[in-house]
Amino acid sequence: MNIIFIAPPGAGKGTQSELLVGNYNLNHISTGDLLREEINSNSDLGKRIAEIIDGGNLVNDDLMIEMLDKKISELGVEKGIIFDGFPRTENQAIMLDKLLQEKYNSKINYVFNLIIDKSEAMKRALGRVLCSGCGKIYNVYFDKFDAEGYCNECRSKLEKRKDDNEQSFNVRFDSFMNKTKPLIDFYNKEGILHEVKCGDKKEETFAKIKVLLDK
Ligand code: AMP
Repeated sequence: MNIIFIAPPGAGKGTQSELLVGNYNLNHISTGDLLREEINSNSDLGKRIAEIIDGGNLVNDDLMIEMLDKKISELGVEKGIIFDGFPRTENQAIMLDKLLQEKYNSKINYVFNLIIDKSEAMKRALGRVLCSGCGKIYNVYFDKFDAEGYCNECRSKLEKRKDDNEQSFNVRFDSFMNKTKPLIDFYNKEGILHEVKCGDKKEETFAKIKVLLDK
């Protein structure tokens, strides 16, 4: 089973992916994480990517699909994959369908359109912190911490993403509205689109996704 999210920044696709991994034993590919790994490697490519991401802009489609394909080939498609943050453009959606079909004899089974107000999404993005050790996602507005500024699970330091500021959020939100939201029509035509209204708590949203998957 392969899953995609269509969701504005801050809607919680990373958090829902974590819950899906825990409950359904799927592999998880976050294209944002792949790009952040490249940035952390301090390569020339990483430096170019950092400039793009920090401004809230999209990395080009060809590079993205190349990085994604490399990761799919490492993981294989047998367990099923959650594609978190991909596709973000119609061109990427077409490339992904083609890649899955022609190279992996596989396809997308579920697309979840996470629905959330812009103001709530912004609040969530601005409150987000990530564990520098295990990558767990927290939110300073919703989560309780055993020791402030440190991961409850592995005790590493929590960090804010550089692009989780108001200016980058607005660019990312506009890019979602203009380039990613049209994918709703694309997947609706394929008959695999499901709308999920985000709840106040991550567990509420996940319960709705679970109902759809367990049908
Ligand atoms: P995310 O972690 O999904 O919020 O992604 C962080 C940033 O990485 C985005 O704002 C984009 O700059 C970049 N990015 C992630 N996935 C993609 C993608 N599929 N296409 C282009 N850029 C991407």
